[in-house]
Order: sequence, then C-alpha cells, then structure tokens
Amino acid sequence: MDTVKQQSADGLTQSLNVEKIRQDFPILSREVYGMPLVYLDNAATTQKPKAVLDRVAYFYNQINGNIHRGVHKLSEESTQEYENAREVVRNFINARKTSEVVFTSGTTASINLAAYSFGEVFVHSGDEVVVSEMEHHSNIVPWQLLCERKGASLKILPFRDDGQLCIDQLEGLLTPRTKIIAVTQVSNTLGTVNPVKEIVRIAHNHGIPVLVDGAQGVKHGNIDVQDIDADFYAFSGHKIYGPTGIGVLYGKENWLEKMVPWQGGGDMINRVTFAKTTFNELPFKFEAGTANYIGASGLAAALDYYTKIGVSAATAYESDLIQYATRKLSEIGGIRIFGTAPDKAAIISFLVDNVHPYDTGMILDKLGVAVRTGNHCTQPVIDHYGIDGTVRASLAFYNTYDEVDRLVEAVQRVKEIFG
Ligand code: PMP
Repeated sequence: MDTVKQQSADGLTQSLNVEKIRQDFPILSREVYGMPLVYLDNAATTQKPKAVLDRVAYFYNQINGNIHRGVHKLSEESTQEYENAREVVRNFINARKTSEVVFTSGTTASINLAAYSFGEVFVHSGDEVVVSEMEHHSNIVPWQLLCERKGASLKILPFRDDGQLCIDQLEGLLTPRTKIIAVTQVSNTLGTVNPVKEIVRIAHNHGIPVLVDGAQGVKHGNIDVQDIDADFYAFSGHKIYGPTGIGVLYGKENWLEKMVPWQGGGDMINRVTFAKTTFNELPFKFEAGTANYIGASGLAAALDYYTKIGVSAATAYESDLIQYATRKLSEIGGIRIFGTAPDKAAIISFLVDNVHPYDTGMILDKLGVAVRTGNHCTQPVIDHYGIDGTVRASLAFYNTYDEVDRLVEAVQRVKEIFG
C-alpha cells in the first residue's frame, strides 16, 4: 500500500494514505441519519476491509468442507486454508510454533480456556491469582470462577488516577502461593499501554507465568510474544479487522502440554473408548468440535491486510490522531478525561460537564458520530473514579482528522444543549 505524508490542519503528520485506505472499507462510506458515518467505536469492534469480506465469501462459495476429517477435495482445501491461517497468526505474533496457536471464538473464550485448563492443574486451595484493577470483565470473571472453584483468592494490582498501573506494588503482591498473573496490554477504557514486558520479567523472577489480554493490544504496534515472553496471549479477530467469532489463545508449549482439555468432543481426541479417551496433540487438544475455519481464514486475510498497510505506520498515525483529539476536546473546556498515561493507544474516555454519558452518546449518535458509553465491561475502573460511566471514542487508522473535528463539534453541541 502506498504511504504518503500529509499535514493535518494542526500540523500533525499523516503517514498513511487514509483516503485510499478508507475505500477498502465499504461500511465507512455509509450514512446514518442522512450524514456521513463517523465510526469511533473501534475498541468495541473494528470494521472489515474488502479483502476480509471477499475471503470469507470466496471460502463459502468455493471451498467450504468440514476440516480435518474428510478425504474429499473440499475438506482437504478447507483444512489447508485453516492451517495456513494458523501459520499467518503464528507469524503475526511471532510465536515459535503453530502448535502454540489455539483458535477459539475470541478473547473471552481464550481467557476462559486458559483459566480453566491451567487452573485445573496448577491452582489449588490457598493459592493466589493476580489481576489488575483495569481489567476487562473477561479477564476478571474467569479467574474469579476459578478461585471460587478451587478455594483460591484473587489479588488486585491497582492503578493510579492517571491510568498507570502501580507496577512498584507488583513485587509486594507476589507470594509463593501466586500461580499466575493476568493483565491487559492496553486498557479498553483508559487507553493505557501497560509495560507487559516488564510485568513478565518481574513475574518470571518469581517463577510465575503471565497471561496477557491482547484484545486491544494486538493491533497496537508489532506484537512479538517471544520478546514479551508472555506465557499466554489472548486476542479476538473482530478487533483487528477480522471476522467475529474467531480468536486466538497463544500459549507456550510447555504450559499447553501440561494443561487439561477445556471442552471435549470431536477433533480434540486421539482415541475414544468407553473405558478411556486419549487426547490429540497440540493445538487440537484445545479445539473441540467444528472450528470456525472460515473465520480463521478471514482473520488471516485481516492480518495480511494490516501487515500490508504497515502496523508501525498505522499505530504512529493513530497516536497522532488521538493526541489531536485529546487536545481539541480539552480546548472545549469542561471535559474530564479519564486515562492520561504517557503511553496511550487510540482510546479516549471522557465526560462532558455533568452530562450523563448516555445522554452525550445519544446526541453524538444523532449527529452521526458513533461512540460507546457506559462502563465498557470494566466496572472496577468506573468505580475507581466514582462515576457512572464514560463516553469513549476509540480510533483506527481509517479515521481522519476531519472525523475528529466532527466529534469535537458534536461534543460542543452537547454542551450547548445542556447549557
Ligand atoms: N479484553 C479487553 C481489553 C477488551 O477490550 C475486550 C473487548 N471489549 C475483551 C477482553 C473481550 O473481547 P471479546 O468480547 O472479543 O471476547
């Protein structure tokens, strides 16, 4: 993809040909309420480029056969596409082996899988699991369920008011009973980019494995799970321009080998008798039933597309764009921003004066600007600030400075309406 340097009105550099990129995303040219759509809800889900839509349609139209079990041509080709997709994912996150890439239905399923299958073997009564205060419910509740089942306890690494984790308190939380740390790479509410590599280093000094929730982080910069040295890394296809219903759990082979299966069924077995069942090799041991092989292929198309755009260029552009948005929103006056860490992804949570976030969101919607309001599945974050929720704008590389201006104008309108 060509990249061009453009100057925004504010003098910030635009190193992507965004107008050209936007043409790859059919939905971006639709209107809502007679106005061009401004889609700023990318942390909830991203839009899909034609490359992904075409791949999925082609698969259903020309290739579809159930994987791994058939001798016929369609099954063989489908299997090949599915396993090719696994290799694309492996390469994208730089895992050592494809056997360490487990396909799931999304981040939530990946974390539940890890919590159950790791927890069954390694977590016992009196043990401890550490999560941070800024986790998505998906990275809290599965661990809570595990702790309740096992009689273990959940310990919390807090964050400061600016949205940075209190890393200096991590060491003090760890005990010989700490069995795993689960932490998000990027907060979906505060936008904070956490120092996950540093967290892993501290944890490993104590012999403790780390699960990184990469739902938001996977598209923020080039991901190298070996460099982070994460023991587990979870993400969803739909948040990185791929289809819904497909996700990944990366796990280091030495952990996955020792973990028990999560779900039983077809594909995950080696030999079944009524007396005993033996399990398939990695990663199939964790992929019971018909996998979302077409989703996996769509995800591979998304990762190929994103790689062609240039992950670094996209992240740099998003970073410029969020700085611009932050400055412009702050200039309005009366805007409270939640999450002001120095290292932030393209997510901004805010409140307008004393206006309820839901009211702000409704007005923004009527002005064609799609944002999210509420607790963003992070109730402890909202509780931290003692508020009802926030308005969250989350940007992607296909958003423009003009769209940020539309957001700012819409927020000004909210202020006018509420006096
Ligand atoms: N973790 C984080 C940080 C998220 O932002 C999300 C989605 N909002 C999830 C986990 C859950 O992802 P999914 O709903 O795709 O399973």
